[in-house]
Amino acid sequence: MLSQRALSELESKGNKKVLVQMPEGLKPKALEICKELAAAGFEPIVSGDPCFGACDLRFENGATTLHIAHAPLLNDERVVYEEWAHDVKMGKAVDAALPLLPGTVCVATTVQHVREIGEAIKILRNAGKSAFLIPKGKRCTYEGQVLGCDFSGAKGVECDAFLFIGSGRFHPIGLAYYTKRRVIRADPFTGEVEEISADKWLKDKALRMTKANDAKRFGIIVSSKPGQRNDAEAKSIAERLHAKGFESCIIVMDLITPDSLLQLALDAYVITACPRLVIDDWKNYSMPLLLADEI
Ligand code: SF4
Repeated sequence: MLSQRALSELESKGNKKVLVQMPEGLKPKALEICKELAAAGFEPIVSGDPCFGACDLRFENGATTLHIAHAPLLNDERVVYEEWAHDVKMGKAVDAALPLLPGTVCVATTVQHVREIGEAIKILRNAGKSAFLIPKGKRCTYEGQVLGCDFSGAKGVECDAFLFIGSGRFHPIGLAYYTKRRVIRADPFTGEVEEISADKWLKDKALRMTKANDAKRFGIIVSSKPGQRNDAEAKSIAERLHAKGFESCIIVMDLITPDSLLQLALDAYVITACPRLVIDDWKNYSMPLLLADEI
């Protein structure tokens, strides 16, 4: 499963010890990966902590981190990234999306499907659509790829709609919100197709803002994950809150959960970490959650 490139890169780091990090979906392959690494002369240890993205790196003294699944994001000499692609084909999902698609379509997906995206463009063009890939965003590695925290590739794109190919609603909701355009989501695993409306996200946002109306004491959450940490933004939020007469403190944490925020007993929280917490997960939290630009 591991590429020769990843094994050579690990070798070049000079550490025998390798910390293997992967998202939950790949954890069942941990033993297989360890056997492969051991056979290549390494001493693997698996990180059992959750791993949410290429931003979420773990380290062990004297070890190289082998981060499996995501495209490279951070340039850290202690890390070797190994991407992992789904071998699911896109044809069924794109065919199902065709009746909903207008003439000019910009196509986006996540890194797990980006290698198959040429197939989607071919199907769309054969069906008479003017189809092209979303340009590469600031934090992305590939044309056609989006991250939930980076839709900058969509800036200035002229199209009638976006076609997002992937499972889950986090990315297409973000894309709809960022672009204010129609987004059609096609799931390559199930063939399910749906239109994602930015209006729904705006309604959710209004609800969150209303919940935070009476808040006077704010927590500003900074992630300790290297690719999410944004101290400058937290400081700027604290200054803005202070100028508006509110109290706040900056809180650094790794795993952000409803229970951990409950213990802090503040009125509302501004999240500078992964936007998924606010966009996707806010309903799991009894306290109001806000994004930095909502202050
Ligand atoms: S911050 Fe969130 S959306 Fe961005 S790379 Fe990390 S996990 Fe993905």
